[in-house]
Amino acid sequence: MTRLAVLLVVAVLAAPACAPEDARPADPSPQVAPDPAEASSAGSPAATPTPTTPGTPSATPSAVPSAAATRTPRPGRPADPRWRFFTDDRTQYASPWFPGRHPVMIPFGCTPAPYYSPDPSCPDGRGFHHGIDVAISCGTPLRAGRPATVLDHGALGPAYGDNPVLLRAAGFDVVVGHTERVFVAPGDSIPEGEVFARVSDRGAPDGCHLHFEVRRPGGEVTDAVDPAPLLDLRP
Ligand SMILES: [Zn+2]
Repeated sequence: MTRLAVLLVVAVLAAPACAPEDARPADPSPQVAPDPAEASSAGSPAATPTPTTPGTPSATPSAVPSAAATRTPRPGRPADPRWRFFTDDRTQYASPWFPGRHPVMIPFGCTPAPYYSPDPSCPDGRGFHHGIDVAISCGTPLRAGRPATVLDHGALGPAYGDNPVLLRAAGFDVVVGHTERVFVAPGDSIPEGEVFARVSDRGAPDGCHLHFEVRRPGGEVTDAVDPAPLLDLRP
């Protein structure tokens, strides 16, 4: 009995010295103010720490880009550190399909961009880009540059992300790739100027951007034509 009592006393005395399991020091990470742009965002964990320093551009050496971070729309719309430009054209373009002005990242046609298989119609083993890529930050709303009807995008395949939009507009099929938060469904009519999706990086190895592709109606990717007239880029 005595021995047990001693053990009990020792145990009781020792207990306060042991930090309870959940008494770790307070989380040293700084409190992050809620991002207004995230207020209505579904799906991303609220605890995602986001650099909030206003005016701190993307020159920050980017750590490994996390999926959560790259989906975070920022009010300042910083450049995406993953963007790689395969054109000398650095013009900031406006378009009826998106707000603001943004540069083309990969033009339509043969390209040295490494994301595409060599195409027989291109020299030097280059691939063929069937759309125009415009470097636009994730979360930017996309609106119909022309009155459009929403088609089923099911046959587009994974190259455009898991939630692209297929439209019929101006007599063509328009593939709007790498979108998220699509606000329309097949069969919907979209009046000109109405927001139908947001820019994302889904399925995109080179960051958040708009892939805008125009095909003849009912056509395949090989039926893509130069999308410039319909995208209507304006310096
Ligand atoms: Zn593209």
